Amino acid sequence: MTPARPRVVLVHPRLGMPWVFDSAAEAGFDLVIVPRPGEDLTDLPAPVVDVLDLDLDDPEVAIGRLRRAFARRPFQGIATFFEAAVPFTARAAAALGLPGLPVEVARTVRDKGAMRRAWAAAGLHSPRFTTVASPRQWSAALDLRFPVVVKPANGFSSIAVSKVDDPAHLELAVVAAWDLTRRQLGGIEAVVVEEFLTGPEYAVEAMGHRGETRICTIGYKGEPQGPYFEEGCYQAPADLPADTVAAIEREVTAALAAIGVTDGPSHTELRLVDGRPYVLETGARIGGSGVSSYLTRATAGVDLVADALRTAVGAVPHSHLGPITPRGAAGNYIVPCGGQGVITAIDGLDAVAAHPDVDHVVQMLHPGDRVRPYPDFSGYPAFVLSRHAEVKDAMAFHEQLPGMVRISYAREDR
Ligand code: ADP
Ligand code: CA
Ligand code: CA
Ligand code: CA
Ligand code: CA
Repeated sequence: MTPARPRVVLVHPRLGMPWVFDSAAEAGFDLVIVPRPGEDLTDLPAPVVDVLDLDLDDPEVAIGRLRRAFARRPFQGIATFFEAAVPFTARAAAALGLPGLPVEVARTVRDKGAMRRAWAAAGLHSPRFTTVASPRQWSAALDLRFPVVVKPANGFSSIAVSKVDDPAHLELAVVAAWDLTRRQLGGIEAVVVEEFLTGPEYAVEAMGHRGETRICTIGYKGEPQGPYFEEGCYQAPADLPADTVAAIEREVTAALAAIGVTDGPSHTELRLVDGRPYVLETGARIGGSGVSSYLTRATAGVDLVADALRTAVGAVPHSHLGPITPRGAAGNYIVPCGGQGVITAIDGLDAVAAHPDVDHVVQMLHPGDRVRPYPDFSGYPAFVLSRHAEVKDAMAFHEQLPGMVRISYAREDR
């Protein structure tokens, strides 16, 4: 039996995303948060009833502490919207006998090589690829057709992802990806090299329940050319013909089934090559650490945060109670860093927030923060979340934004 106000441990939420906490409160959940290191914990949002400090770098100890917290006062679920915390959350759920992703599924979704192998074996559209288990094995990828993309198997946020046009530059790219990932993510076991897929990119937000997948929305992400892949803007719902939408839904549903993501939210990225969907990767979580919940609410009436919390306690997600009806359009614009070094000022965000179509501006970098350029990653300056009547209005709004926001950097001698 689920109590009237179920408690869920939410691992590493972004506290600056108010709609995440509003959704939890509206859906009747109490949250125990496991904060990210260094997070400001003054003025916690209403549904947060407790804070549990855990060091995820030491999972054994963290799970021990979680067990003791559970014994003092039980909770009914544990969830995360943060990519790097997906395996820990799965382990913790298993250890406490709570609903969750199977531990081996959580391992697969954090390994781009394992996902590629599963999708190729399932007969999904796949670029040719190879995984190298040490930078010295870089030449194994020379058989591929260039350009190729080099990426760490365990990466996220496009850290250490680069496009390589010329085989002569492959070794350097593999070594650089290896070193950067080891420094930034604390470890690396493999680099995936795959053929570059030419075509527009889309993100698909879905919700699973007992093996059945509901596609909530498909958003357009532009046509990134590289060589580095800084996250940009996202407009939903993508303006696509019905047969392409159906092809995307089939491919994503098959991709999720092939890796065992049967329950909970997922965020899948793909490119259309000659109109055919090729999946790039899947996260077994809400996209953008919670951003996608804003987008699916605005475009499909689906509250992914509420549904993810329901899944975490073993309840039926509301997106599975009836058909999903498209409504309105929405956008997420990620303010580009547009430079590197120490930020001295970020101007224009107040004017953006005052725009009638804008619901949220989430600022994550501030004056004094240091930006390292892609393929390294030091955080996003800000997300701008907006709602519009039609997707073309979201696109037109995004075209105005570069002229409205300006990030200034200290001059540096390098
Ligand atoms: P991450 O988990 O770091 O986001 P992705 O696999 O999503 O890693 O790669 C980041 C970005 O790099 C993608 O959004 C896409 O634009 C680009 N990319 C990755 N692989 C390919 C590919 N095979 N072809 C074309 N673009 C790719
Ligand atoms: Ca990605
Ligand atoms: Ca990812
Ligand atoms: Ca991306
Ligand atoms: Ca506003």
